[in-house]
Amino acid sequence: MSDTTSPRSRSVAIIGAGPAGLIAAEMLAAAGLAVSVHDRMPSVGRKLLMAGRGGLNLTHSEPLETFLGRYGASAPRLAPLIEAFPPAALRDWAEALGAPTFVGSSGRVFPKSLKASPLLRAWLRRLDGLGVRFALRDDWQGFDDAGRAIVVRPDGSTAAIEADATLLALGGASWPRLGSNGAWTGILAARGVEMTPLLPANVGFRAEWSEPFRARFAGTPLKALAVRFEDTTLRGEAMVTAYGLEGGVIYALSSRLRDAIERDGSATLSLDLAPGRDAAELAARIASQKPGQSLSNLLRKAAHLAPVAINLMREAGGGPTLPRDAEELAALIKAVPIRLTGIEGLERAISTAGGVAWSGLDDGLMLKAIPGVFVAGEMIDWEAPTGGYLLQACFATGIAAAKGVLARLDAEQSG
Ligand SMILES: Cc1cc2nc3c(=O)[nH]c(=O)nc-3n(C[C@H](O)[C@H](O)[C@H](O)COP(=O)(O)OP(=O)(O)OC[C@H]3O[C@@H](n4cnc5c(N)ncnc54)[C@H](O)[C@@H]3O)c2cc1C
Repeated sequence: MSDTTSPRSRSVAIIGAGPAGLIAAEMLAAAGLAVSVHDRMPSVGRKLLMAGRGGLNLTHSEPLETFLGRYGASAPRLAPLIEAFPPAALRDWAEALGAPTFVGSSGRVFPKSLKASPLLRAWLRRLDGLGVRFALRDDWQGFDDAGRAIVVRPDGSTAAIEADATLLALGGASWPRLGSNGAWTGILAARGVEMTPLLPANVGFRAEWSEPFRARFAGTPLKALAVRFEDTTLRGEAMVTAYGLEGGVIYALSSRLRDAIERDGSATLSLDLAPGRDAAELAARIASQKPGQSLSNLLRKAAHLAPVAINLMREAGGGPTLPRDAEELAALIKAVPIRLTGIEGLERAISTAGGVAWSGLDDGLMLKAIPGVFVAGEMIDWEAPTGGYLLQACFATGIAAAKGVLARLDAEQSG
């Protein structure tokens, strides 16, 4: 091909209008490519908007080295991509969109509005200004013999998208009603793409609550908790649910709990309900309480335990009648054993582990099995706890895949 081709004559079809697809669209349109974004849903960024419901945690302010460590086995592959678009760059990007960020007390980074909707609105205006075209209710089904992406349109017709490159940003398979349903796994596997199975990540776990405990405490937060599993102790919050436990500290342990339950059939957590006090101090405070009061009152006064925590001790530790001995009680407060018997399904998980294997991708995030097709976002095989690490990796891989597209098209043009 001659190098007199003007940039706009080069085109890319992006399938999936979540954060990974949209940031790739922005970069490619800004580089002068004709960009079309296709999504099976009637509107874009549904999971991003859902993420904003509880406060959109865009990224984290901790040192980059610690940050990168959150990606576990995927850290070596993700590190150069995140270093190229680090948390500071994501914050600058949000600010330039009119959504300045702040660092919360936990070090997490949020837009000042906390919500995703103002950011998404401003983003769509920017994409519109860059000439990005959207085709919604386009359900991607695979590729035709000429390598074109095939979509089924709302009227049931099938269309082949003409483009010089295709970028898939189809998300994982959690919360499928928001659009990403994981149907792409079968399509890509059939084309020889290396994959690892999709698994729930950042997800709740089942515990066998008694009926009275479930009825009274489902939906109650467990605040200021330390949770120990194997050699790891984490502080944070959790939530009692009808089925078991969920929330930040549980999510942070979820990949290890998932593996342990798969291996052993169950996993036992140890909950420290009073992480600020040691057992000796607690025992002394319990022993110094006036005799004759109910155990609940005694624990409330001596250890500032909420009813949910006291009943969790009954539930998990000591049966309906708790020990009266101060030292035994203190020991139980410091280590309430909770047996987790199962993991919630993908449809309730915050994110998805597994997906397109790193070994199936080149450095530009192009599928080795389907040259000219790039992937980004949660559909790649990485996982991370909540804390802003998910969105940061979606943005960074979106940008890396866009760079991969540019590099390939440039090479084709000059070659
Ligand atoms: C309740 C909840 C809260 C969260 N909170 C946070 C948070 O605070 N911080 C954080 O970092 N992360 C959070 N996340 C995770 C974060 O939202 C996701 O990691 C992120 O949205 C993934 O981006 P993505 O672009 O890879 O995929 P998605 O956002 O899932 O987008 C993929 C898009 O592809 C489309 N698609 C899929 N298949 C097809 C097809 N066949 N044809 C056409 N289109 C298709 C989907 O409709 C969708 O629009 C949260 C997730 C949930 C569920």
